Amino acid sequence: MSATTKRVLLAKPRGYCAGVDRAVVTVEKALETYGPPVYVRKEIVHNRHVVETLRERGAIFVDEADEVPEGALVVFSAHGVSPIVHEQASERGLRTIDATCPLVTKVHNEAKRFARDDYDILLIGHEGHEEVEGTAGEAPANIQLVDGPEDVDKVTVRDPSKVIWLSQTTLSVDETMERVGQLRERFPELQDPPSDDICYATQNRQVAVKAMAPECDLVLVVGSTNSSNSKRLVEVALQAGARDAHLVDFAREVDEAWLDGVDTVGVTSGASVPEVLVMDLIAWLAERGYGEVQEVTTANEKIAFALPRELRRDLKEAKA
Ligand code: SF4
Repeated sequence: MSATTKRVLLAKPRGYCAGVDRAVVTVEKALETYGPPVYVRKEIVHNRHVVETLRERGAIFVDEADEVPEGALVVFSAHGVSPIVHEQASERGLRTIDATCPLVTKVHNEAKRFARDDYDILLIGHEGHEEVEGTAGEAPANIQLVDGPEDVDKVTVRDPSKVIWLSQTTLSVDETMERVGQLRERFPELQDPPSDDICYATQNRQVAVKAMAPECDLVLVVGSTNSSNSKRLVEVALQAGARDAHLVDFAREVDEAWLDGVDTVGVTSGASVPEVLVMDLIAWLAERGYGEVQEVTTANEKIAFALPRELRRDLKEAKA
């Protein structure tokens, strides 16, 4: 094929991860089993389309548990919550279903374990992100947040031989390792987490984007602006050699001027994005001459998580 032929490179893996799929199905099944309204604390996953669709079906999204009527059912989002939120829900007599992704729960458990052993924990993540608030809430006295490079000099530890870093699950792998390197210059005995905190889905989507980016004049990432892993895909694409890259929620948000002089468009999507939105973008591009689509596959994902235990129990009872 000529290098000037208009084409689309489509990253694989892209889109829904196992934690997002589980969280969305949890709200859908809760609506079916208990009937609307089902309250959801925060956006169940960071995607406008998903949230709007669930809202139409009877989900009510709230910021805090105290906005939920006493005794009602509330689902906690995939990003996880701090123990205080569980306490507030219990004080109000709320029925809860916890849709926290098991890979976020893993980081919570690491935080609890190292706090119990009296470590100073340096949590690399974005200030204000729900996941970071939830993890930090597990051990507020032991955890310090490291967001940008400017935070590296600010952290203080009690014993430099008892310090560990943990991270948000949806960061850029390269940037995080850069931050760890800077922290290790200050604390040479800094320990690594027992296993990767940046989850398989975040890593796989970044690897796929890196593989196609050097061939792309433009990379379009389908995802919402509050989705950490989606925003990272734009940055990774640019760092890996894409000439231009943008985040869009929907095909209609693409500015046609971005296509000027573009032969190869790379397409991917964040871990909270349904495939239908990617297919809409592919159709939109085809209408503009980018009809040839080649998939760039760097991994095949087969991971799935069981639904939350409390929901499985009620589904089983409903069936019986
Ligand atoms: S992005 Fe990773 S941590 Fe977040 S919900 Fe998906 S699998 Fe879980």
